Amino acid sequence: MKEMKGMNIKTCPVCGNILDAEGLKVKDYSVSGEVFEICTCRHCTFSFTQPQPEPSAIGKYYQTEDYISHSDTKQGMVNRMYHLVRKKNTNDKLDLINRLAKKPASLLDVGCGTGYFLSVCRQKAWKTEGVEISDVARRMAEQRTGQAIYPSLDALTATGKQFDVITLWHVFEHLHDINASFLQLSQLLQPQGTLIFALPNLCCADALHYQEFWAAYDVPRHLSHFNPVSLRRLVEKHGMKIEQILPMKMDAYYISMLSEKLKNTAFWGLLKAVWYGWQSNCRAKKDGNYSSLIYIIKK
Ligand SMILES: [Zn+2]
Repeated sequence: MKEMKGMNIKTCPVCGNILDAEGLKVKDYSVSGEVFEICTCRHCTFSFTQPQPEPSAIGKYYQTEDYISHSDTKQGMVNRMYHLVRKKNTNDKLDLINRLAKKPASLLDVGCGTGYFLSVCRQKAWKTEGVEISDVARRMAEQRTGQAIYPSLDALTATGKQFDVITLWHVFEHLHDINASFLQLSQLLQPQGTLIFALPNLCCADALHYQEFWAAYDVPRHLSHFNPVSLRRLVEKHGMKIEQILPMKMDAYYISMLSEKLKNTAFWGLLKAVWYGWQSNCRAKKDGNYSSLIYIIKK
């Protein structure tokens, strides 16, 4: 197994605690085969990937057809399932933002990938902007939506624009400097606006079951690993508040299926994934720790 070199985080970016603990060793299954650690701050429970590839070196870890949020392939069972889940998720996301803002309203989707969600929102009369760092995905998003997509948050912040709703669907965990990014998002949000994060929750039962095979660790693309406690701490540190937390129940099944794939469990993997996904949702009904959570954040 290859050990990876990169930046070592020495101080917790959420609470400032000095970090010392060793963490769970997790392999990058989809691209490099390198091994990283999931370390946790003892003080605030924020977890992070260690070491972290430099921003200039992270691009190579995204170069795979398996990284399906950046591609539109429908080959293979997992990808077909992904597209089914995406359709259901998109409808749920649209219902959610329609409840949160009176139209005409503006929406910024950060990490918009190939622009699927943006294009659906545009069709439903939302005034949209998107940010996508990947050149390939950004070009696809521009074709799909017929609008220019920003390559970075910096480029958009410079325009001074503000939005009624800002969404980061499974994106914030990919960002290098979470404090600087949060500050930028806060600047881009209208005073009465809503910031929405969807994030994997490493305190869910499927993470505890699959351990180093839990697909939502996705190292080193996922640099931060939140739970409701650590995210609340980060949000409040920036003078904002979490108003509501919503479950993404399909993710327990989807992530369990990907995790079984990493374990090479063949045919039985699908049945096991359904079982552990269901188990995870059952436990989460009691303690709120669903596999993925949507956070509704306000100023
Ligand atoms: Zn901490």
